Amino acid sequence: MQKQKELYAGKAKSVFTTEDPNKFILVFRDDTSAFDGEKMEKLNRKGMVNNKFNAFIMQKLQAEGVDTHFEALLSDTECLVKNLKMLPVECVVRNFAAGSLVRRLGVEEGKALNPPTFELFLKNDALHDPMINVSHCVVFGWATQDQLAEMERLTYKVNDILSKLFDEAGMMLVDYKLEFGVFEGKIVLGDEFSPDGCRIWDKETKKKMDKDRFRQGLGSVIETYEEVGGRLGIQFD
Ligand code: C5P
Repeated sequence: MQKQKELYAGKAKSVFTTEDPNKFILVFRDDTSAFDGEKMEKLNRKGMVNNKFNAFIMQKLQAEGVDTHFEALLSDTECLVKNLKMLPVECVVRNFAAGSLVRRLGVEEGKALNPPTFELFLKNDALHDPMINVSHCVVFGWATQDQLAEMERLTYKVNDILSKLFDEAGMMLVDYKLEFGVFEGKIVLGDEFSPDGCRIWDKETKKKMDKDRFRQGLGSVIETYEEVGGRLGIQFD
């Protein structure tokens, strides 16, 4: 499968059409951004690490019965995916308090959240991805009530699978963001799952092992992503 036209370039990935209208090629770039693109840097090897990380997780989820857009790894930085009609809604699950939840509600960082919370955000950089609710989605046509119910069900199913996976590898899956789209009438997991879109802490030391290393200038960003992958059994070379 060959890349044809670049359809869209996001902050870290580009999407290309292929000769099959139902398939796209995702290219994971080394570009890294935080704070709605205010902080931008190229981090060597990031495209490759996130592409392989994402492929591993998507295949794991697929094997456990979660429909994803992932089709095949094509190269170090490229994968083949289904052409989903993406919904402009970000689904965030939190197992422990961190990030915007701590800032918004003043709760203690690291507090275990039982049951895990489920939040919706509008995918809109210009508005800084504001928090939204089901009625906003329905009234503005971002997603239907049924689609949102399915997204919530799948997001929690992903949580059961991945929390266990990270826990067994000595890490805490603190929180993460998922995006979904529609393919042949079904809600399917799209976008990516990598340390760029989740928080992962070491279980013992609480060392941050995700994009907070970049956001907070903690250094060793990609080396730490590779450490996370290594603990999960992902081969990068
Ligand atoms: O910033 P906040 O605490 O709301 O983020 C929750 C989780 O969602 C974090 O793991 C963060 O990396 C992820 N996220 C993301 N992309 C966004 C917003 C949040 O990957 N646009």
